[in-house]
Amino acid sequence: MHFDWTDEQRALKQGAADFAAERLADGVIERDRDQQFSRELWNACAQFGLQGLLTPETWHGAGQDLLTAVAVFEGLGYGAADNGLVFSVAAHVASCTVPLIEAGTEAQRAQWLSGMVDGVVIGATAVTEPDSGSNALGLSMVAKREGDCWELDGSKTFVTNAPIADLFVVYARTGEGFTGLSAFLVPADTQGLSVGPSMAKMGLRTSPVAQVFLDRCRLPADALLGEVGSGAMLFTHTMDVERLLVMAPAVGVMERLLERCVRHARSRDTGKGPIGRYQGVSHRVADMELRLEAARLLLYRAAWAQGSKGSVTRESALAKLAVSEAYVATCRDAIQLFGGYGYMVDYEIERELRDALATTLYVGTSEIQRNLIAGLRGLG
Ligand SMILES: Cc1cc2nc3c(=O)[nH]c(=O)nc-3n(C[C@H](O)[C@H](O)[C@H](O)COP(=O)(O)OP(=O)(O)OC[C@H]3O[C@@H](n4cnc5c(N)ncnc54)[C@H](O)[C@@H]3O)c2cc1C
Repeated sequence: MHFDWTDEQRALKQGAADFAAERLADGVIERDRDQQFSRELWNACAQFGLQGLLTPETWHGAGQDLLTAVAVFEGLGYGAADNGLVFSVAAHVASCTVPLIEAGTEAQRAQWLSGMVDGVVIGATAVTEPDSGSNALGLSMVAKREGDCWELDGSKTFVTNAPIADLFVVYARTGEGFTGLSAFLVPADTQGLSVGPSMAKMGLRTSPVAQVFLDRCRLPADALLGEVGSGAMLFTHTMDVERLLVMAPAVGVMERLLERCVRHARSRDTGKGPIGRYQGVSHRVADMELRLEAARLLLYRAAWAQGSKGSVTRESALAKLAVSEAYVATCRDAIQLFGGYGYMVDYEIERELRDALATTLYVGTSEIQRNLIAGLRGLG
């Protein structure tokens, strides 16, 4: 096995870390406090090439593989503390551009992809419903064929980017069971689609989220993404990719926090020498490093496997579970190690914990990842 990155991958990751530190880090405390999404920074991300990382060159993207994209997003997490903005970009890339690239017709790709790459079009994916939640495939939004049109009726919740989105990938029911779901491309200005007010949330506050209502929303026949009944398959595959891309920044954040903790343990002296001399402190740092490296390897392996074999649900669920749980534990460790300072907003660690807590919920909760892993062993 080779664990080395190519020179190009290394340079892209470093470039992303530098870009994030230079462009995305300023003013995060204020944007977090005000729940403010920055369109200017979204555009800067697009100019840097983030939104088009996985999009083929034909549509002005970089055509990178998932492992390279994971390295870039890890670099972003290392360089910037604006986890909300990075999450918005990752959600746009993984849950909107990926299904379009994979299932879109030539006309759909030509219509949307280059705008999604250059930052003009913001994507959102609407799966979760108030009454289905973790049972994502049990959603009940109905899509009825009416002559030449589709009519969608129902509501979605917790839709990342909804208040700023131009295009929604909406999953709806066209029949029963696994083959009874279909995906649709719904422009935000479609009559019958409305977005609720931005929902206030605990963390990732620079990434807007809202409910989406489709009230007898009529779409042309060519709004269908993929075949009728292929929605669950598309969703499952998209989730395999999304779990990895949205978790990659967390690995970078963990590394940044670990380095801060080491510096603090070396320099903080309460009168008897640096606190790093206490085993209670130094072992905490060792555990942080162990957790980080284990989670990182699972993430890399899953991203590598995605390019080389069929279903990676097992690898992707293991990686998502490991990274998210390690991320929360790392943030708690960092606050503990910084003592009262870690609890203060200006130290920018408490925000990391608030952001981290979302990762064990979205793209399938930790319990759902465990269900997937155990299910593949024939359990549950
Ligand atoms: C920040 C954020 C961004 C999000 N972005 C999007 C988005 O862009 N698009 C979108 O469609 N959705 C999005 N979601 C929704 C997210 O996918 C759901 O919150 C998640 O799937 C859980 O659903 P729920 O919140 O309804 O919780 P519930 O399903 O009600 O779960 C409640 C609890 O019960 C547990 N539970 C439920 N079922 C099982 C089971 N079978 N076995 C064991 N335990 C179980 C859960 O693990 C959890 O602990 C986002 C959520 C958050 C927090």
